[in-house]
Amino acid sequence: MDKKTRKFKSFSKDVLFESLMNSSSNCNLCERMDNRTIVLSRKNGKINAKVLFIAEAPGRLGADKTKVPLKGDKAGDNFEMLLNNIGWNREDLFITNAVLCNPRDANGNNGTPTVEEISNCNTLLNMTINFVNPEIIVTLGITALKGLHQIKNHPYSLKSNVAQPVPWNGRILFIAYHPGQRAMVHRSRSLQRSDFYKLRKLVDPLDGLKDRKRRNYKMPDENEMRNIKTLTDSIVFLIQH
Ligand code: SF4
Repeated sequence: MDKKTRKFKSFSKDVLFESLMNSSSNCNLCERMDNRTIVLSRKNGKINAKVLFIAEAPGRLGADKTKVPLKGDKAGDNFEMLLNNIGWNREDLFITNAVLCNPRDANGNNGTPTVEEISNCNTLLNMTINFVNPEIIVTLGITALKGLHQIKNHPYSLKSNVAQPVPWNGRILFIAYHPGQRAMVHRSRSLQRSDFYKLRKLVDPLDGLKDRKRRNYKMPDENEMRNIKTLTDSIVFLIQH
């Protein structure tokens, strides 16, 4: 691909991402998340990232305030510590959540997204994956796995498949625990650190998968990108009418 084509492709991807951000910006499908920050913007990371992380939902003291996924609260600190341990920078990654708004319980604390809320946000998650088109998706916790399951069924669980690269929907998936304090009951911090070391062995955030054979996943072609654009426009229409 020559320089001009590359520049055009990256320009069209920018335009498509703007369109994705616009389509999410007026969404109010989930009742209890009305008026919450919808955390999807350039602050999520690099739109051409080779590694896409999916966590659970923006935290009340984290992304709901900072507008940056996994930033500003304890889970964010833990996540950055895990990244720092393997020498990765969040600027080289794209980070999102299974649901884009902060769910709260009756006491105003962080709540767990319901099946319906995960389903409401699923189209946006699927579109984000297709836009970024990463070489590997890293799920952080059970909610992210559920979000992917609603896009395309899979048999994976945290307990059985943690720290394993597995195929999903034509892509490579790496399954990890959420970096929040609650997950420590099931996965100690030292085991989480070793999971991230396994991830580093598998992929370089700038260079992609280290095993070339694993790169044979499906890339969206021009037609699929056009379909994504049509889908985005339809969602904008549905949200605005
Ligand atoms: S969580 Fe997703 S589907 Fe629900 S209101 Fe926010 S953007 Fe819309």
